[in-house]
Amino acid sequence: MGYRLVVSRGRLHAVSALASSVQELVNDVERLRVAAAGALDRSLVTSLVNDLARRHGLEPVGDISKRKNFTPPLSGYMTEVQNKTTWASVFELFPRGGGKVTLSLEPDEYGVAAENCPNCGKRVIGQKPAVAHNIIPQQTWKRIVSAAISECLQNIESGNLTKKHVRSFSSLSGHASGVRFSAPDSGEPLGGKFAPEKAENKPIVDKLLAAGLINSAYAAQDNAGKQCLDCERKQSNATLIQRFALIKEKKLQSQIESGAIDPATFVGAQFQGLADRFKAADRKASVTTTGAVEELLGRVTIAQIGRFLLGIEKCIEEEYTRNPNSPLNNLLLDHWEEFVWSFRSVAMTQCNANYSGSLGIKGLVL
Ligand SMILES: [Zn+2]
Repeated sequence: MGYRLVVSRGRLHAVSALASSVQELVNDVERLRVAAAGALDRSLVTSLVNDLARRHGLEPVGDISKRKNFTPPLSGYMTEVQNKTTWASVFELFPRGGGKVTLSLEPDEYGVAAENCPNCGKRVIGQKPAVAHNIIPQQTWKRIVSAAISECLQNIESGNLTKKHVRSFSSLSGHASGVRFSAPDSGEPLGGKFAPEKAENKPIVDKLLAAGLINSAYAAQDNAGKQCLDCERKQSNATLIQRFALIKEKKLQSQIESGAIDPATFVGAQFQGLADRFKAADRKASVTTTGAVEELLGRVTIAQIGRFLLGIEKCIEEEYTRNPNSPLNNLLLDHWEEFVWSFRSVAMTQCNANYSGSLGIKGLVL
């Protein structure tokens, strides 16, 4: 789900310095929300609001109805009342000089309140849940994870990336970059004891490739943009960038004419008008962009890849407590920056590659 921030204009004039900061924050949050493709994290917005309050000398005091003998701090304060049913929060900012600014944090149209498929408008609530693979499909995630692990092993072994692009740090596993993992011509798989095929490394590799993880919050962005199964099926195993290119290059003309493919839901109706939304949000936050659709699809894709990496990081940390002797898991923890670098580059290459396949349509070969 994603969140948006809304300011109530009631008594803004009373406290203009605070009011303009609040308006700037609302614009920034809107820009982040668009960039996050409807998956802006609630806790991030809350911490931004808290930071703003502190910058203006207002103490965040939470829900005062739950506090006995509340005495308002002289410096001014900010209350927060959460509504557990609607997932909304109301912040009231009371500056020292008087007046009040009210802000509400509420789920956006893709958030908990969303009941319809963002693509075709069909009702999705109460039906078999369809995870959102509208940016990167499940099969592509699996290929990315496998390819990123071997790319990362090569990068660590060669030491090139460490010297050039990422800071090096002492190694938990005792293997700094530039150390050969396997003896030359030994016939050992790439990575020696770090190889994904080794029994002690299998648990983490299996976990990263499990549909459960890929289907979970990381790929589906906490259910943001949860599509119906029909849309999921029609978009098949093509990434957002590939689907856009197939339509633009007119490679699906006969399928479109026969009605087998609807260009809008194939690319993703929620991405229609993306350029306008990005440009409006960027303009409000005084950021200049080209606004080219391809660039924006790239931004949406890289944001999704970043969210997935957060999931992987959590996963390997959990695995460390369960299985502290997996050489590969330790290496990934230890060389996390090289893994992030490898993962992002492999993922963007795969998402941008020319599509080949059949999109699950009989007789179609691309
Ligand atoms: Zn749908």
